[in-house]
Order: sequence, then C-alpha cells, then structure tokens
Amino acid sequence: MLYTGGTLGMVETPRGLAPGADLAGWLDRLLDGTEMAGTVGMTSFEHLIDSSNATPDDWRAIVDDLWAHHDSADAFVVLHGTDTMAYTSAALSYALTGFGKPVVMTGAQYPLGVVGTDAAPNVTGALRAATSGRIDGVAVFFGHKLLAGPRATKTSSWAYQGFDSPAVPPLALTGAPWRWTAPAGTATGWADPEPYRRHDVLVLDLAPGITASRLAAAFDPLPEAVVLRAFGTGNAPSEEPGLTDVLAGVIASGVPIAVASQCVQAEVLPGRYEAGYALARAGAIGAHDMTLEALYAKLVFLLCQGLDGAELADAMSRNIAGELTANPDRPLAQ
Ligand code: ASP
Repeated sequence: MLYTGGTLGMVETPRGLAPGADLAGWLDRLLDGTEMAGTVGMTSFEHLIDSSNATPDDWRAIVDDLWAHHDSADAFVVLHGTDTMAYTSAALSYALTGFGKPVVMTGAQYPLGVVGTDAAPNVTGALRAATSGRIDGVAVFFGHKLLAGPRATKTSSWAYQGFDSPAVPPLALTGAPWRWTAPAGTATGWADPEPYRRHDVLVLDLAPGITASRLAAAFDPLPEAVVLRAFGTGNAPSEEPGLTDVLAGVIASGVPIAVASQCVQAEVLPGRYEAGYALARAGAIGAHDMTLEALYAKLVFLLCQGLDGAELADAMSRNIAGELTANPDRPLAQ
C-alpha cells in the first residue's frame, strides 16, 4: 500500500485539514483478526500531499514507487486524495500497461478518525479488489464501486458515492458476493514509456458569449497542447466572428487541440453539426468518450513520449489503456 496523502489520513489543524494521522496503526487495527492481517506492507510519500497539489511529477513518483516494489507484492493499493485521484488513475493507467499486477486507488471523503468515515470501507474494498484475481491494470475503488482507472471521474465533493465512470459500467459493485462486469474492449498498451514530467497543456471551457479576442488571449503564449471543452458532441460558436479562425490558427501553428465535451457523458463527434465542422476541418482531435481526466493525462503522457503532429493525433484516438471506446455503435453504458 502506497500512501500519498489526501483526506483519508488527515487530522484537524488550526489551518484546516492536513496530513497527520497514524495510518499504519489504523490499518493494523482494521485488519486485525481478518484473513489479511499481517499481509499488507506500507510505503509512504515523504511529503504527504493534498492531491490538489499533485502534478505529473507526483504521477512519476507513484509509478517509480510501484515499480520499486513490483517484485515484493502481488497487488497494490494507492491511497490518494480524492480531488485529483481520477487524473492520477488515468495517468497510472497509461504508464503501467506493462506492470502486470493490479493497482487499485482509493481515498475518502472523511478522515479515518471521524465516526462514520468512509475510510474503512474504501480501504478494505480496495484491498479486496486488488487481491481478487479479477482485475488487470489500474482501477479506482470508491463508495462501493470498482471503476476502471482511465474511466473514473469525481462526481461529488461530499457524497460517499463520490466517483463514477459515465461512459462504461463499473467493473464491480460490492455486496455479498460482489457483482462483476466484464471489462470492455482491448487496449494496445504502451511498452517502456518515458517517465512523466510537466507539460504545458491548457484546459479551456467555452461558455456562451465567449469572444475571439478572449480566446486568443488564452493562447498567448501558445501552450504545447489544448483540451477545448466544447458543447455537446464537440460544438463551438461558429457564428462568433473570428472565433473558429483563432482555433484553426492554433492548430496550424502545430499545437494540437483535443475537443472534449462539457457533458459528463459524451461521445465527441467532430463535424456532426455545422457548429463543430470548422474545428474538425481545421484538424482538431475528437476526444471520443474520454473523461477530461483521461484526456488531459493522455496528452501529457504522449507529450512525454515525444509525440507531436499526426503521430500524436493518431495515438490520441488509440485505446492505450481502456480509456476510450472508438466504436460509437457500442451499447450505451447502464
Ligand atoms: N483535498 C483532498 C485531496 O484531494 C480531498 C480528499 O482527499 O478527499 O487531497
């Protein structure tokens, strides 16, 4: 078990919640008398973080830690703050396609020392999932659901059912016994990935009334890649003077724009509407049904692999770790 920080292990301080709980002692007491007693080893970030502070450097540190312990455990659980857990679970999914052992992430909405906390069910559920022998790759266990790592998104800042995977059904729901779903599709994986480091990827939301000059200002200086969160199936205001020209100019200067949707559940179909046609014609990349987290982490991952231009666009549409469904005729998620 790798402890990186997050609410789960926090305590009240005069400046708000901050890391400080005796996590190892708590875990020992939690597992005492169960079949898992004495089977879980723990490592920890030296500097525990609120996951709002996580960067691709932390993704790299987690990947490195998991590889460092690869041969000394059968399965891995990563304790992480909930705020950016879905970004990290997507990032780990791409980087660990060759890991060969299950990695399950979890966290909690309440610290472990609060009566009624979700820390215990989440940690024991993650341990159960990780040792089930039924998962491959990276997953998130939270609020009685096991979700595919590159499909998870944080849907609530307070509910115990705080995560979901809007494009695909959960891998499992808890109960006696758990109910499992077969994971969909085949992923291509990525052999020997270069490590994560920071890249300048801009995430931009469109809103009704946005002007070309506001958009142009956001692109100055030019980032390395853009996630454009557009409307519906990937539409932008095509009648706003100059707006699509700004976007086309960014793409023409070699900066990839991945068009995502602001809908929680979406299939981006560039060019389906006239309002999305100019973006498609300019060479914007459609996000398919990827979450924002999966899309952002994928752009960072591919930039870390040194990809650009057509190669990057091509890799964005490839299913590397189960993050997208390329076939829009698939059955809808339950
Ligand atoms: N701010 C916290 C974090 O992401 C929230 C949590 O863990 O639930 O680290």
